[in-house]
Amino acid sequence: MKKIVLVLTILLSITPMVTNAASNANNLKELRAELAAYKAKKAAADNSKSRTQSEINSSKNAISNAQNEIETNKSKIEQAKKDIQALNIEIEKTKNKINELIKVHEISSKDKAYLEYIFNAKSISDLIVRMKASEKIADYNDGLVTSYEQKIIENETLQKDLANREIELNKKIGDLESAIDSLGNKLSTFIEEALDAQSDIESTQKLINYYVNLGCGETENFNDCVKIKGDTGFLKPLNKGTITSHFGYRTHPVTGQKYKFHSGTDIGGNAEGTNVYSAANGMVGKIINKASCGGNQVYIYHTINGVKYTTGYMHLLTINVKVGDTVTNQTVIGTVGGGKKTASYERCSTGPHLHFMIGKGWYGSTYVSYNTWVTNLLNPVNVIKFPAQGIFFYSRF
Ligand SMILES: [Zn+2]
Repeated sequence: MKKIVLVLTILLSITPMVTNAASNANNLKELRAELAAYKAKKAAADNSKSRTQSEINSSKNAISNAQNEIETNKSKIEQAKKDIQALNIEIEKTKNKINELIKVHEISSKDKAYLEYIFNAKSISDLIVRMKASEKIADYNDGLVTSYEQKIIENETLQKDLANREIELNKKIGDLESAIDSLGNKLSTFIEEALDAQSDIESTQKLINYYVNLGCGETENFNDCVKIKGDTGFLKPLNKGTITSHFGYRTHPVTGQKYKFHSGTDIGGNAEGTNVYSAANGMVGKIINKASCGGNQVYIYHTINGVKYTTGYMHLLTINVKVGDTVTNQTVIGTVGGGKKTASYERCSTGPHLHFMIGKGWYGSTYVSYNTWVTNLLNPVNVIKFPAQGIFFYSRF
């Protein structure tokens, strides 16, 4: 069962070469144009990818700039608060001074010190100077208070402006973050596009290789090319030989009764060790080693004009292929046995010959049982042109 699964897996992995990829190309030239288009699509997606990535990076930079500015502004706000406190203290001090001076004015007639100061004037003019001086001191201090108050207003305005700026910056950060989100979505779309294009490029390249290896011309229609070069018909499995026994029921020479079914065509006239070829392009589907009846056997899967076939080769001396190998009609899959060299284990052959079978379906895959496959066997002489029994052929065609 495991072997069958393996065979199927191998088959599935080789057959899609022709059928996969959403290609509408009819020939290599068109297929190459599709490849170029996929490459352009990939390049465009790659461009979009890196452009989006750098947009994301610059948005991230802008966010970190805004965050730095918010931090700086916070310390500016702190400084402004401290300045306001210091100015308030200065204002208090100055107001006290002013109050003292005003008191001096108010009690000018009663205060001795002031009177002494005034009346110690040596002349009328000195008296006036002294009176004006004390007024000026009051005026000066008044001016100081005003300027301190102005500075407080300035600091409060600064504080407000900075707070507004913080709101503005936080909003900007929010906008940038949602921009990054949508850029991230765009980026994943472009990454997916690039990956899709890449897998299209690879499968198209595989298709191109497949058709190039088949020898298809640049403008040759694939269907024609595959039919001629991919789907060969059957050739004889040997370069020379003669039919020694036919496929089918043998008729009793006396009673005319049909007896003993022979599942293939026996081809003799070759020494043990002679090359045996695959009758058509295909894949090795099944191998049996040293069966007591049939000896070493190779079964090859083919698809000819859309129909599945298996060819079988029995009594082989050597087997040159393994299950899963792709073969052409030029591949030597083994050598003729059935004589003395295989006599130690082979009991159903008395001399060197090839027992060659053709059946519909894939024995081991479509039909797991040998008996079922046998019911779908064809007479090889109806598929491949052989000369009459006893007459030698010297060509595989
Ligand atoms: Zn036979």
